[in-house]
Amino acid sequence: MVKAATTPPERPHEFELISRYFAPLATDPGCLGLTDDAAVLSPDPGMELVLTKDLLAAGVHFLPDDPADAIASKSLRVNLSDLAAKGAMPRAYMLGLALDDTWNAAWMESFAAGLARDQQSYGITLFGGDTIRAAGGLTISVTAMGQAPIGKAVRRNGAKPGDILFVSGTIGDAALGLRLRLDPALAVPYGLDEAECDHLVSRYLLPQPRVALALAVRNHAAAAMDISDGLGADAAHMSESSGVDIHIDLDEVPLSSAARQACKADASLLATCVTGGDDFEILAAVPADKAESFVRAARAAGVSVSKIGTCVAGEGAVLFEQGGKPVPLGASGFRHF
Ligand code: ADP
Ligand code: MG
Repeated sequence: MVKAATTPPERPHEFELISRYFAPLATDPGCLGLTDDAAVLSPDPGMELVLTKDLLAAGVHFLPDDPADAIASKSLRVNLSDLAAKGAMPRAYMLGLALDDTWNAAWMESFAAGLARDQQSYGITLFGGDTIRAAGGLTISVTAMGQAPIGKAVRRNGAKPGDILFVSGTIGDAALGLRLRLDPALAVPYGLDEAECDHLVSRYLLPQPRVALALAVRNHAAAAMDISDGLGADAAHMSESSGVDIHIDLDEVPLSSAARQACKADASLLATCVTGGDDFEILAAVPADKAESFVRAARAAGVSVSKIGTCVAGEGAVLFEQGGKPVPLGASGFRHF
């Protein structure tokens, strides 16, 4: 049998790929136009660099058929979320790409357009990267560099008994959105209309890093982190590293109207919301005497924050409560292995 001839996809070679798609994104003089072995970056006077990296793999962090520009944005934004949680403003990023044989020029153009849009939105530029061909699925590694005044980056380990626990935005949308993405028919038992489904799915596809909250976090929080593995699991990271117990009131956890609707239709989904991942919201422990000022600063930055609990003396446990009674949700979140 003769196989039908297929046209090979148009795929520029490695250096053409870099000069066509990535060099236009490297606008800072320190990038050296992506024509050298390395790039040069100094923090502004009095500032220090805050560094973070996230690796994203097809089938684990995004679905292989997600739009290329959304995959690019997500890869960048999950890193910006980490910087915001440290009270750092983003400056630059580096991009590692392990490409399998499924991409073509149109895909790469969309991928680069997603990066370009976010560079504009967040005021950052590409400083370099590396590109390889790999046999596995598409894997993307972004290293983001931000800056904060020397010694002022906010750690996870600073929470003290008496601190108020705040969370930005809404929790659980992305976990529900992923379920709906994998099985759109769930809209029926969840009681969701099309707009509500779109909202939840878009929260999975495109995180909204709380970059605008960075300054308020830096000026008020004793401890902060971004929520990527689930509220329960990430609160446990904070409680353990700070050596305090964290009490979270489930009735205070902010839910979008779509998530609230789904939880009304199926009460078990509240556990999905608080243990599911991919929220990319900020969890902050704020000393009680700074709480009011934190809420005001967040409002001025255009980010909603909700008080969801308190830190108390303890051994580093997270306790969920509802109506004053403990709720055994566990603190397990997403783990790769
Ligand atoms: P080297 O062989 O010295 O590692 P490369 O040939 O890999 O250099 O890269 C050449 C230039 O292109 C470097 O400036 C590098 O930072 C940049 N580059 C390579 N891949 C990417 C990428 N995926 N994104 C951005 N810049 C890249
Ligand atoms: Mg290289």
